[in-house]
Amino acid sequence: MLDLLRPLHVPTAEVSSMKSPPVPLGTLIGRELRNEKVEKPFVKYGQAALAKKGEDYFLIKSDCQRIPGDLSTSFSVFAIFDGHNGISAAIFAKENLLDNVLSAIPQEISQEEWLQALPRALVAGFVKTDIEFQQKRETSGTTVTFVVIDGWTITVASVGDSRCILDTQGGVVSLLTVDHRLEENAEERERVTASGGEVGRLNVYGGNQVGPLRCWPGGLCLSRSIGDTDVGEFIVPIPHVKQVKLSNAGGRLIIASDGIWDALSSDMAAKSCRGLPAELAAKLVVKEALRSRGLKDDTTCLVVDIVPFDVPVLPTIQTKKQNMLSSLLFGKKSINSGWKATNKLSAVGVVEELFEEGSAVLAERLGKDFPSNANSGLYRCAVCQVDQSPTDGLSVNSGSFFSPGSKPWEGPFLCPNCRKKKDAMEGKRPSRPAVTA
Ligand SMILES: [Zn+2]
Repeated sequence: MLDLLRPLHVPTAEVSSMKSPPVPLGTLIGRELRNEKVEKPFVKYGQAALAKKGEDYFLIKSDCQRIPGDLSTSFSVFAIFDGHNGISAAIFAKENLLDNVLSAIPQEISQEEWLQALPRALVAGFVKTDIEFQQKRETSGTTVTFVVIDGWTITVASVGDSRCILDTQGGVVSLLTVDHRLEENAEERERVTASGGEVGRLNVYGGNQVGPLRCWPGGLCLSRSIGDTDVGEFIVPIPHVKQVKLSNAGGRLIIASDGIWDALSSDMAAKSCRGLPAELAAKLVVKEALRSRGLKDDTTCLVVDIVPFDVPVLPTIQTKKQNMLSSLLFGKKSINSGWKATNKLSAVGVVEELFEEGSAVLAERLGKDFPSNANSGLYRCAVCQVDQSPTDGLSVNSGSFFSPGSKPWEGPFLCPNCRKKKDAMEGKRPSRPAVTA
């Protein structure tokens, strides 16, 4: 039973060399569930992978800082890039995406403002990275699942089908990403068709259709990615973004490429490693996927534990007790629910939903304000962050640059290059000519 009256020593989360807490862990977790403040969680992680084609890449950066040099503003980034038709897009995204996202966040703002600016910066960073990669004129593409952990807040941006799931201490598993697979996403099929793509299966042997739904030209099964210059601009790099805040009880993220998810359900993956330290957990998830399906694809798994104490692993609390406590303390708060996906987290109770948006329309994702430098009279492009004079033949609120008759653009300022990209993604401009290798 929890001893509620005894005064407790509360360890400070910053001290990484902290010894074991002098009170039973269950007691401490009980305190956390009653919402007593632990400022910063410990983030522990493990990684495991098996290569078949060698096109999976991952990124782990546990030492980022919102204000360079200020350790109290640290945050971490975990990402998976599952490449196809080559490795160059995956490598390019791994090397450039984080910088592109960070450059789209205003300087010298509070943590709260930073977290609020992050979803929009993720959209800008993904699109900018895609534009830059297109300029290399290479044909490969990649999924991206990009996770930012700042304090107890988790922000996930994803294109493609590398999922991120959240397992909370109560044993409830929820999906933080949406699969951008044509086969499973009717909304995306509609969008791709409306923007000029064709969706169908592979035709073999006199018209027999085989395999999953693909997009033509190109034959890609995904509806969003970074790269895929040769497929068509309707394969957009605009990510689904979800932001949630954990309770002080913490939780575990499992981020993995489709080699895992084609073999294991979210529940199976979570259950297969519960109660084990992150490093071992990642290995076990990969092993479990391999056992059930064999090595058919690149298989990469990151396990990230966000925990209130410096212990190898937190015991799972009984669901019933936690739900009773948490229902008193936490509620679901949905600030922006423009995305129509099911609210799988509503059952969790201990997780607060802060933001979710998955629209593929750039204007809906970037907001309407036009950040400008009052001194110079320049406007900053909301995607690539380049400062431009508004008199460069491009007025902010004019109609579409390439089809002046269409509805006025109500989004923020875009430079001519990024505006071109916007129009192409919406099917208002022919896709760039096929690249010959
Ligand atoms: Zn731009």
